[in-house]
Amino acid sequence: MKYPAIQNFINGRFSDIASPRSLTVISPSDGKELAIMPCSTAADLDAAVAAAQAAFPAWSQTPIKERVQVFFRYKYLLERDLQELASLVSEENGKTLGEAVAEIEKCIELTEFATSLPQLVTGEVLEVSKGVECRTAHVPLGVVASIVPFNFPSMVPNWTIPNAIALGNCMIMKPSEKVPLSLARIATLLQEAGLPDGVLNIVNGDSEIVNAICDHPGITAVSFVGSTRVARLVYQRATQNLKRCLALGGAKNHLLVLPDAKPDMTAQNVVASMSGCAGQRCMAASAMVAVGEVDHIVDKICAEAGKVVPGRNLGAVISRAAKEKIEQYITEAEQQGARVLIDGRNTVVEGKENGTYVGPTVIDHVKPDMAVAREEIFGPVISILRAATVDEALAIENANPYGNAAAVYTQNGSLARYIVEKANAGMIGVNIGVPVPREPFSFGGWNESKFGVGDITGKSSIEFWTRLKKTTVKWNPEAGVNWMS
Ligand code: NAD
Repeated sequence: MKYPAIQNFINGRFSDIASPRSLTVISPSDGKELAIMPCSTAADLDAAVAAAQAAFPAWSQTPIKERVQVFFRYKYLLERDLQELASLVSEENGKTLGEAVAEIEKCIELTEFATSLPQLVTGEVLEVSKGVECRTAHVPLGVVASIVPFNFPSMVPNWTIPNAIALGNCMIMKPSEKVPLSLARIATLLQEAGLPDGVLNIVNGDSEIVNAICDHPGITAVSFVGSTRVARLVYQRATQNLKRCLALGGAKNHLLVLPDAKPDMTAQNVVASMSGCAGQRCMAASAMVAVGEVDHIVDKICAEAGKVVPGRNLGAVISRAAKEKIEQYITEAEQQGARVLIDGRNTVVEGKENGTYVGPTVIDHVKPDMAVAREEIFGPVISILRAATVDEALAIENANPYGNAAAVYTQNGSLARYIVEKANAGMIGVNIGVPVPREPFSFGGWNESKFGVGDITGKSSIEFWTRLKKTTVKWNPEAGVNWMS
């Protein structure tokens, strides 16, 4: 093993995980075994919750302007260690170094937002009748938990850590068991930035620890990011236990390409969206609806896909199982009559024969009832469906049960506006294939891409990570009392 066994981070210290079960962290890039990952048990979670509960009174009573000083320093440390963190992310996740650098840059932006929170949570005050004032304050929830997926080992944890903690909560973080390495490094950076012991605790493990989080009486709120199947389970279990929960799930994002779309820009965008991070993004384009005659753009998409080279500007998919599943989708579509224009199956990268790579794949003439058109593939694969009209294309897009993102490529403003209005998804792009709202706008899909109210980042996250205290004060107690006073 390249690294020592994964440890938990509880009360400011790394500690061994005593567990009868363990997994192995494998680098998807070359198949190298990186570390043993023992799976924590409920007893480890108890220790983490106890540490967070002990830290909560002092941390929540620290003024927010003081709390965010930690994140000003953390932002600087992310900048200082950007390359080192990016290397770790690339190694454990399989994405390219450039993509990992972009991921850490996004962590920096998320942290910048958290440092602005004092400006956004000032509350309200009003003299509601003579001498009587009502005021509101955003109060932290207590010990909260964040459960994250494999595809952004650092960015998704940074969707929740800076905001939840700056707002006064103490946190239990559950990394993906596939990519636990960079989060441990992040914990040390936060400690160096001055975060008090116990405010952030990391408990490694798999579904057993997720279930324990949902059941733990000491945890008041749970955020989850991962597949829809698990998001649904977590949302049901956490809310059954009367916890606040926001659970973001999977996606099947459609791009609508109209005949007047700019061919070169559209082709570059479609390919970047479907193949970036090897298609393992919840915002990746997975289906393209070609409206009318756009064969000239499809030709350019194929040419662009040819420039995407596994092992060079295309990373690996997370595991052998993922590679096999993606290739199975392609084979099944082909057997059902779709045409595989660019085929990424059986990709082997020289010198990295044990890596799990799938080349860029373009499948044309896909029918809406095929699995490649309906299900999340999570690989560098785009399925092209054909529609005669914009309304037909919208009907295809809106029939999918997810609702994370959708995008349209056109130069026609009123048609773009029509599609923005009618598309049944939470994040829409116009001439942009990965329409991630940047801070302070919030991130979150609709339908089966998200269970719960509000979004996970930006201003919307304030509502999730705090509760409102409403105080009414009578400054002239000698004055008469009526129902309005
Ligand atoms: P996953 O659902 O398999 O795992 C996510 C987390 O849940 C992990 O920490 C894992 O340990 C835990 N988990 C897995 N199975 C569980 C079970 N049966 N019970 C309880 N917990 C369980 O997701 P993944 O494969 O790590 O990540 C990829 C998925 O995440 C894709 O579907 C992708 O679209 C989605 N995702 C969504 C967003 C979003 O913002 N909507 C962002 C990133 C990723």
